Amino acid sequence: AEGAKAIISWGSCASNGCIQAANPNPTGATPIHKIIKNKPIINVPGCPPIGEVMAGVIVYLLTFDRIPELDGMGRPKAFYSRRIHDTCYRRPNYDAGLFVESFDDESARKGYCLYKMGCKGPVTYNACAVTKWNNGVSYPIKSGHPCIGCSEENFWDNGPFYQHLASFPGFGIETTADDIGLAVGAVTVAGIAAHAVRANIKKRKLINADIEESKKEGGE
Ligand code: SF4
Repeated sequence: AEGAKAIISWGSCASNGCIQAANPNPTGATPIHKIIKNKPIINVPGCPPIGEVMAGVIVYLLTFDRIPELDGMGRPKAFYSRRIHDTCYRRPNYDAGLFVESFDDESARKGYCLYKMGCKGPVTYNACAVTKWNNGVSYPIKSGHPCIGCSEENFWDNGPFYQHLASFPGFGIETTADDIGLAVGAVTVAGIAAHAVRANIKKRKLINADIEESKKEGGE
């Protein structure tokens, strides 16, 4: 690292220790930024990280000869400034209160939101839903599996993968990972979550009313 202008930590292992560092971290696995202190560190987490994102970071460095703008966790904002939740094609189902209740149920076949199946998209910052994987073919949610939040620190210790989040802060698409940290300190999470639940119930009622109205108009 001595002659390096900057160091790129590829993947969650290098960026935050990943599974080796999961509690109780028996081997003392340590991310690069906690070892090397005298160089700029660019964290590109993900388990694995996205190929296009890796290429994008290198191209940026070569093209502009400077470090890309980073968030509070050292991740390039160009790829980690939006939540999976804000770019997810299933988001309209979340907003409408339409959820998968168990894998392979009718709602799963319809492609409803995976929030109740433990999806960590609302608290995960990455570009999966934008770039997707395998030349844009798919990403975990599109394949029917909830996001496990692999680009966030300590994601192995952030609760069971298949248990839904009790609450989460930041509902606007303008929210960044750094804003989330501020929001947690500024407001009660329970209050925000309650607002979201109320909004969804209200939307669900409106949708059901619309369905009933259509049935009446259709003569059912
Ligand atoms: S909770 Fe998950 S599946 Fe649902 S809209 Fe958000 S990111 Fe997509």
